[in-house]
Amino acid sequence: MKFYSTKNKSLKKSFREATLIGLPSDNGLFMPEYMPNHTKLVKGIKNLSLHDISYLIAESFMNEDLSNGNIEDIINDAITFSAPVVDLRKNKYILELFHGPTLAFKDFGACFMGRTMEKFVANSDKQLNILVATSGDTGSAVANGFYEVEGINVIILYPSGKISSIQEKQIATLDKNIYSLEVEGTFDDCQKLVKKAFLDENINSSISLSSANSINISRLIPQTFYYFYAYSQININQDVVFSVPSGNFGNLTAGIFSKYMGLPIKKFIASTNSNDVVPKFIKTGNYYPKSSVETISNAMDVGNPSNLQRILDLYEDVYRIRKDICSWSFSDNETKEEIINLYKNYKYLLDPHSAVGLLGLKKYLKSVSEDNIGIFLGTAHPSKFSDIIKPIINEDIKIPSRLKKMIDKNKRSIKIKNSFDEFSDYLLSNFK
Ligand SMILES: *Cc1c(COP(=O)(O)O)cnc(C)c1O
Repeated sequence: MKFYSTKNKSLKKSFREATLIGLPSDNGLFMPEYMPNHTKLVKGIKNLSLHDISYLIAESFMNEDLSNGNIEDIINDAITFSAPVVDLRKNKYILELFHGPTLAFKDFGACFMGRTMEKFVANSDKQLNILVATSGDTGSAVANGFYEVEGINVIILYPSGKISSIQEKQIATLDKNIYSLEVEGTFDDCQKLVKKAFLDENINSSISLSSANSINISRLIPQTFYYFYAYSQININQDVVFSVPSGNFGNLTAGIFSKYMGLPIKKFIASTNSNDVVPKFIKTGNYYPKSSVETISNAMDVGNPSNLQRILDLYEDVYRIRKDICSWSFSDNETKEEIINLYKNYKYLLDPHSAVGLLGLKKYLKSVSEDNIGIFLGTAHPSKFSDIIKPIINEDIKIPSRLKKMIDKNKRSIKIKNSFDEFSDYLLSNFK
């Protein structure tokens, strides 16, 4: 399998190259040249584990570049946590994607990408150094996904005082191959430092740099595994509906891949917070990207979602998109009400992102028939957003033990000024 650029279908790269370079040189996004057919897998899915499903799908995308043994290793090391479906009654199910190291679905992509890159750099005598600027969630998932990966260092830059204390712990308490820099500046400053490093001749001539961008194709492939696994867990013989709380639309794109591979999906609901450029686009056919607005589901505060390029590449136009996807946006107030409502009635606590997913699912079921079976994606554990949820429900929130362990550890990050010279000195004196 080769991967083409959405901007130029004749620019094709191997899976290895697409993973290591992240973005095609023409600034498009990598796409698989065809979707593997997994209708046979779907027929026998009831007898398969998450591990089996993951292996079969991964193999169909990666078998030209990695041996079966290597693919098996990657799955074993990356998919170490489950993705259970929980019945919330009246045909609504939540797919809990927050059982990984940082309690969010991004762990699937980051862990898989880390282990895949580890295979690609094995036997090379040079260390690969991954630079990441983060405003919170991506950095913590990448730090944990690459922890103890051999041959790769990860250097994470985060803005001092501008990420949550839990996120800081998830990034800055790791040792070994994970290095964190607390920058006296904003997220944009961190991003500028990283961008400048990639262009700096002096740095690039002495150390090899790479990125772990969220639009890397090796982060998208593992996100298809749990759509299949979710379907395998509910006992029905009808097409299902998936509601996906969306920001950059990577998760939704992985769902669409799954449908193209043969998973019987009747409809997608792309649920957003007030950042509503995609719902508006699907409704009107006009796409107007804009600056993001702040909401309580802040990992979805995106004003120009990058994966829309991939969705358009698959569907070609908005009329075809409308057949498969409907999209609505929900306000913070609606989100808060939904959190309270579910907690009161079912004692089930949602984080704000997952709550947006449930709102989309309910709206859809109301608009068609309640007989449809719907699954919404639970993208983060509520304890990650306890500062937002606690005042909403007026109760303390239980913190899972794996998160508690991190909170008790000491911060190891190094503080630097918002200065390229200081950053460059740090890189050149610590890495080879
Ligand atoms: C990143 C994130 C999302 C949005 O996912 P996309 O793939 O960017 O659409 C939703 N919820 C949580 C908790 C996230 O961290």
